Amino acid sequence: MQKEKVDVLVIGAGPAGTVSASIIAQAGYKVKIVEKQRFPRFVIGESLLPRCMEALTEAKFIDAIKACGFQEKNGAKFVKNGKVCDFSFKEQFTNGWTWTWQVQRATFDKALADAVEAMGVPVEYETTVTDIRFNGSDSVTTVEDATGQLKEIEARFIVDGSGYGRVIPRMFNLEKHSQLQSRKALFAHTVDKKRHLDGEPNRITAVVHQKGVWVWIIPFSTGVTSLGFVGNPEFFDQFPGTPEEQYRAMIATEPFFAERFKDVELVFEPRILQSWSATTDKFYGDGFVLTGNVTEFLDPIFSSGVTLACVSAQTAARLVIRKLQGEPVDWEKEYMEPTQHGVNVFRSYVMAWYEGTLDTIFFCENPDQAVKEQICSVLAGYVWDRTNPYVTGHATEPKRLARKIELTEKLNALG
Ligand code: FAD
Repeated sequence: MQKEKVDVLVIGAGPAGTVSASIIAQAGYKVKIVEKQRFPRFVIGESLLPRCMEALTEAKFIDAIKACGFQEKNGAKFVKNGKVCDFSFKEQFTNGWTWTWQVQRATFDKALADAVEAMGVPVEYETTVTDIRFNGSDSVTTVEDATGQLKEIEARFIVDGSGYGRVIPRMFNLEKHSQLQSRKALFAHTVDKKRHLDGEPNRITAVVHQKGVWVWIIPFSTGVTSLGFVGNPEFFDQFPGTPEEQYRAMIATEPFFAERFKDVELVFEPRILQSWSATTDKFYGDGFVLTGNVTEFLDPIFSSGVTLACVSAQTAARLVIRKLQGEPVDWEKEYMEPTQHGVNVFRSYVMAWYEGTLDTIFFCENPDQAVKEQICSVLAGYVWDRTNPYVTGHATEPKRLARKIELTEKLNALG
């Protein structure tokens, strides 16, 4: 069998894999990525958050992304029964990036993978990890290429960025059930000739369709718009037929965009995804670290996936470099805690969204601008800014605010 030796083996060439590979390679280490699929490949996760720009900058990917001409994104808009709540990332509490992009992931991920290859990191496509044996923190990974050829890769450290593949958690029984309810999505790319120009295309719009069901509208720079329904599986059961028939019937029931997307041309047959929330007991071990979706993926509502992938990869890469340099690393304190904290903040907001707490806040009559800016920073991905009370109080503050708004509105109604 063919054998190879590297300092760091990265599994998966999604954003988590390429960001970590780039940062580690820049420190002078021999890094290799193995990727199961041939790129470009479709993956969902098209609306980024400003916080991921810091990780993409450290990975030296900004120029490669700029060259793709993606749609700039400056905020997020929420719509319910004709009411609109608009967040501009320029009006936020944390002093950070005020914009990002909305991207077709096939092009975006390919641009990142090409950029990391140009830095000297080989990306081996159509190569699947089939086995890993650890000997202390050293490891031997068996990979299989498209022709069935096996190879062993010796590594001093492994970064698992395999996304929905969840290679290490599955192989070593680290999988844990998510606390979030199972949800389903039906989505497609549309040729959006009747695009709204008020606030678009530089926003993601999330439309509250009914309790527990919402729709994303993500316009791209090409005139194509991604439109996806997300909700409890029972909602989808009411619509019979093929995915396309279901999708068109659902579009017809939402007054906010029924006319805009009526008979719209679809770029591909609508796709279905279900039960994506997953987590694991620990995000690191002797000789490996989990990054991106392999740690925990929550829900698409706040577009947190790629940002958590990039930030976890950035944090992990810095620690892997220190470990390879022989410095002590406290993985629990320096990796697990901050990574879990970011996930926890978003989880609270995801739960508050589905419970309706955020509807009360987003669509209230007289929003408090200072509070809106604090919440905007969470929506921009600045969930590690502990000076923000809506970060530190993620589990309590939104609920407290919603109760206050409800009480004020009741008192106002009484005159
Ligand atoms: P991925 O992008 O999934 O990349 C992992 C790579 O690993 C893949 O290319 C895969 O082929 C490879 N791989 C898997 N197994 C193996 C193996 N055995 N060997 C080798 N390679 C392997 N996020 C956002 O930020 N914004 C959004 O708007 C958004 N919308 C979403 C909508 C839905 C319905 C869902 C379900 C998710 C959404 N997400 C969104 C989340 C987003 O899809 C993920 O969080 C993001 O892609 C994670 O990046 P990653 O690098 O961890 O993994």
